[in-house]
Amino acid sequence: MAALGPKRAVAVIGSGMAGLVTAYLIQQDSKRRYEVEIFEMQEQLSLDSASYTITSEDDLTYRVDVPMRAFDDGFHNNLKRMYDHLGVRYMSPKFIYPLSAISTTDGKKMPPHFIHSSSNHQVPPIRPEGCGYVEWILRTLYLAVCYFWFTACCFLIEPKPATSNDGGESLRHYLKRIRLPRHYTNGYLLPLMSSVTTCSHNELLDFPAIDAVDYARRTYRQSHYTVVGGVQNVQNKISSELSVMLGAMVTKVENVGSKIQVTWTDSKSKEVHSKQFDHVVMAVTPNVVGAIYEPLRKAMSSIPVNQGEAVVHRDRSTVPDCGQLLTRFSAKAHQSLDPTQILHICSNFSATESIHEHPYSVLVTSFPIAPIDPSKIIHRARLTRVLRTPQSRKVVNRIFAENSEHPYPEKEKIWCNGTGNVWLAGAWCWDGMVLLEGCVVSAMRVAESLDVEVPW
Ligand SMILES: Cc1cc2nc3c(=O)[nH]c(=O)nc-3n(C[C@H](O)[C@H](O)[C@H](O)COP(=O)(O)OP(=O)(O)OC[C@H]3O[C@@H](n4cnc5c(N)ncnc54)[C@H](O)[C@@H]3O)c2cc1C
Repeated sequence: MAALGPKRAVAVIGSGMAGLVTAYLIQQDSKRRYEVEIFEMQEQLSLDSASYTITSEDDLTYRVDVPMRAFDDGFHNNLKRMYDHLGVRYMSPKFIYPLSAISTTDGKKMPPHFIHSSSNHQVPPIRPEGCGYVEWILRTLYLAVCYFWFTACCFLIEPKPATSNDGGESLRHYLKRIRLPRHYTNGYLLPLMSSVTTCSHNELLDFPAIDAVDYARRTYRQSHYTVVGGVQNVQNKISSELSVMLGAMVTKVENVGSKIQVTWTDSKSKEVHSKQFDHVVMAVTPNVVGAIYEPLRKAMSSIPVNQGEAVVHRDRSTVPDCGQLLTRFSAKAHQSLDPTQILHICSNFSATESIHEHPYSVLVTSFPIAPIDPSKIIHRARLTRVLRTPQSRKVVNRIFAENSEHPYPEKEKIWCNGTGNVWLAGAWCWDGMVLLEGCVVSAMRVAESLDVEVPW
């Protein structure tokens, strides 16, 4: 259907998953009321920009997603519905997680002390080489008791709710309250969870407990998926009809009368440009929002972010010695489209690195702790991760007016999503773990606010 009047101009800043999905939805408006323009500071769309193409000896190319962009039934419900709508193909690999310690004295990686499997698909768990039967049985029993206790608590014991002073109980306090043994917390739970949140164990313990509890509940015994051929397939499908300005670093967003002015610097010419829009969607991390949009400067400073790296390499000396045990799984991984994949979880008890044995014969280390031989590095990408605390949860929920169990006094009210036709979208723009599902949920929220129908 043709638009009835002049189209309304919408700027979307950032072309990660959140920016692209927001732009895709608004551009697809059945009444054709919007003209969308994306601003991206990189010279390519951001969703797939950190990924890397491997060319095999037989000249075939394979895309390695960086970061992995896995998703789960039960948690990534809207993302999965969107992929189904777009016809994106995905597969359900089974993951094996050998857990190893990194020595705090010499940085050496020990052979794995436990081998966990996704959704516990290996029962009984695989016995690590060098671990006697008695030790393995006792350890497995201990871990089974701790695991069932933690899982039961997640379903039966609610984290303390938000009050007018904070955004609820922290994970640190929750784990103490349910009396989860510290040995299990430090050696097993935190390394496995921080491979999802890619942050230090202390930062993870500062997360709102509800994030971890909700994630554990929703992903309990569910399948994991990855996109066949990589997220480049998603990016290609949703961006094909979008107008994108690459190399455009937005430096300021400001309300000017009933319009919003976007100012950006062209990365090649260094020229500064400005243009006015009817709506602006900032699909960038909170530190960037605070830097470019003055009304949110203070609020954004309370949302922590960290910077890390993901490295694609061939330095097998970084992989803990698993003996012959896991070789058959690696071999399988090379042959099948639906393989078992190995993700080494290596922890020095304050942080964790994960090493993914990629089916295409490379290793991908996320947030490395131990050094990697520079001559064996193929590709590296800097990544920003948005973290959560009860305090930042409170700020986010106020902005999106979500889960506000307590009405806020007038003087404490802060900027709300959509004020002055400025909107936020991003993995962090919802009340939950900062993952791809938040990108889709927040993009759908913007579309629905602009009266655009979501087709999934
Ligand atoms: C190591 C790691 C592993 C992860 N693994 C998973 C996983 O397996 N599953 C999962 O669900 N989630 C995972 N995540 C989380 C998820 O990938 C991210 O949270 C999500 O991709 C963020 O998307 P976004 O669109 O909100 O923001 P971003 O991807 O950060 O996109 C915003 C983009 O905006 C651009 N930009 C920034 N500033 C400006 C500016 N001033 N002007 C113009 N453009 C600008 C940047 O290029 C940036 O890339 C992982 C994250 C990390 C770091």
